[in-house]
Amino acid sequence: MNRPLDTVIELQHALDRLRRAETQLGGIPDWMKELDAQYRERREEIDSLEHTIETARTERKEAEAGIADAQEKLKRYQRQINEVTTQREYGALLQEIDTVKGQIAGLEEQGLAALERSEAAKGAVEEKRAAFRDLEDRYQAELARWDGEKPGIAEEARKLRERIEVLRERVPRPHLAHFERIYDRTHGRAMAPIRKVERARGATMWHCAVCHYNVRPQVLVEIQDRGSLVQCDSCKRILYLEGEGEGEEAETVTASGQAQA
Ligand SMILES: [Zn+2]
Repeated sequence: MNRPLDTVIELQHALDRLRRAETQLGGIPDWMKELDAQYRERREEIDSLEHTIETARTERKEAEAGIADAQEKLKRYQRQINEVTTQREYGALLQEIDTVKGQIAGLEEQGLAALERSEAAKGAVEEKRAAFRDLEDRYQAELARWDGEKPGIAEEARKLRERIEVLRERVPRPHLAHFERIYDRTHGRAMAPIRKVERARGATMWHCAVCHYNVRPQVLVEIQDRGSLVQCDSCKRILYLEGEGEGEEAETVTASGQAQA
């Protein structure tokens, strides 16, 4: 017998699986996450060192260009020395020459510092690159393995989309619209299993496993006997009994991580 509730449970389950498949296809699989993080971290370290080398190189070039300019200026001043006629002019020119010499010394120091920085970074990057090679190999191997798995997951996603269409057709329209409204509002977790809670003195109670609000016994009967779509009084999700429908509620519950947070 095809009760609306059973179909809706299966629909939610298929949507969960589709979302998982799509998330996987859009990113990297869980089993690759650790290596991927390691790979990115090392890659970034190397990139950062390469950046340091590049910056130092530019700085050195700039210092060298500055030195060349200053030396031209110095030559010019030294030529002018022979042409000065007054003591004042001579003194002023000597002052200029001193200033330029000071500039050259400063630029030489800058160039040297940049060179030292670049040498240190070069040494470090060589070391890191050597250590990175092994990681790179492992990463490429996992990447290849992941590429091999992708078509299977894409095929699964395709089948799930088809199945979802079939299930959508099967659910009566008002029920479907109802489900989809809740699905959107709850960010993909429209269903809530009913949990049994044992109370003191052997009393049994039932509550919604998502929000823990009580579920009235007659609701339980309605779901059990007629497979009706009944919402939780508090979180408004569609209630179902564990073991109903596909029997995969546990997965349905854990699949939509958002609701658990
Ligand atoms: Zn609830």
